Amino acid sequence: MVGSTFDIAVIGGGIAGLTAAHHAALAGLSVAHYLEHGLPGGLVMNVGALDGWPATNAVAGAELAAGLQAQNEELGVTLVPSRVDAVEGGAVKVLCGPDGTWRARQVIVASGAALKTLDAPGAERLAGRGVSQCAWCDGGLYRGAGVVVVGGGDAALSEALHLGQFAGSVTVVTRGDMFRARRSYVTRIAGDERYQLRWASEITEVLGGDAVEAVRLRDRETGSEEVVACRGLFVFVGLVPNAGLLGAEVARDAAGFVVTDAHFETALPGVFAIGAIRSGYGGRLTQAVAEATTAAELAAARCEA
Ligand SMILES: Cc1cc2nc3c(=O)[nH]c(=O)nc-3n(C[C@H](O)[C@H](O)[C@H](O)COP(=O)(O)OP(=O)(O)OC[C@H]3O[C@@H](n4cnc5c(N)ncnc54)[C@H](O)[C@@H]3O)c2cc1C
Repeated sequence: MVGSTFDIAVIGGGIAGLTAAHHAALAGLSVAHYLEHGLPGGLVMNVGALDGWPATNAVAGAELAAGLQAQNEELGVTLVPSRVDAVEGGAVKVLCGPDGTWRARQVIVASGAALKTLDAPGAERLAGRGVSQCAWCDGGLYRGAGVVVVGGGDAALSEALHLGQFAGSVTVVTRGDMFRARRSYVTRIAGDERYQLRWASEITEVLGGDAVEAVRLRDRETGSEEVVACRGLFVFVGLVPNAGLLGAEVARDAAGFVVTDAHFETALPGVFAIGAIRSGYGGRLTQAVAEATTAAELAAARCEA
C-alpha cells in the first residue's frame, strides 16, 4: 500500500543515516527513517569506545546510536522498522520493502556496508566457534589464549588493541607490507611484545574440529607456510557495500561502492548516497557525519525550492 509522501526518506540506521535524519528534521521537513530490524547503530553497534569522536567522555557505538535515535524521535522523525529493497526514481521516489511501499521527494541512502568474511577453507564452518568479527563481543572468551587478527586497517588494529587486554598473545596477519591504519594504533601495536606481526601474509586455512585450533599462513613473497596455534580468529578484511537496493542506473565503482558527485548525489536525481556505501568515503564517523549533514541540507533545499 502506498501511504503519504514524505519530504525526505533516509535509509539505514548507522551513524550516517541517524545524522542525516536529524538534520533533515531540523530543517522542518517530514522525514521517514528506515531502520533494518528496527535497530540503529550499524558497524559501530558493538564498539565499546569510539575513537576520533568529539565528545568529552568515551562513547560506545550503541550509546551514540541510541542517543541520536531518541533525539530524532523528539524532532518528529517517523521511524519505519523496515529494510528497503528498492528505490525507484522520478519526481516522487518510490521505496519498496518487505512490509510496504512508501513515497518521498528526496532520498538519502545510508545503508552502509557489511564486514567481508574470510575466503579460506574452514572459515565458514568455524564461524561462531572461534571465528568472529567482534572483539568487543567475544574478546573476553579468550583470556590468556592466543588469538589471530587478520586485516591491516583501522578496524583490524583497533579490535586487536582491544583483544590485547584479554588474550595471551595477538598475532596480526596482513597481506601488505605496512598497515593502513591510524598511526597511533600502529605505534601502540609495534611497541608491545604481546603482538606478533606477520607482514605480506595470508590465511590459507582455518584449522580445528569443533572450534578453531590454529590457522595456516602463507608468506606471499616466499611462499613458505606456518601454522599458528590460536583459539580465536578475528576477521577485518574490508567491507562489502549494502547497495542492492539501488538499480543499475546508479553508478558503482569496481568494488560495488556507489559513485556520487561532490554533493553526494547519485546518478539518480534526488537520490543521495552517504557514508560507508559511498565510493571514496574516508571510513571515519566524523566523515559520515559531514556527508550526512551536507546531503540532508541539500535535499532539504530541494524540497523547499
Ligand atoms: C570494528 C569497527 C570499529 C570501528 N571503530 C571506529 C571508530 O572508533 N571511530 C570511527 O570514526 N570509525 C570507526 N569505524 C568505522 C565506522 O564504523 C564507519 O565508518 C561508520 O559506521 C559508517 O556508518 P554508516 O552509517 O555509513 O554505515 P553502517 O554503519 O554500515 O550503517 C548502515 C546501516 O544500514 C542498514 N541497512 C543496510 N541495508 C539496508 C536496507 N536495504 N534497508 C535499510 N537499512 C539497511 C544496516 O543494517 C546498518 O544498520 C569502525 C568500523 C568497524 C568495522
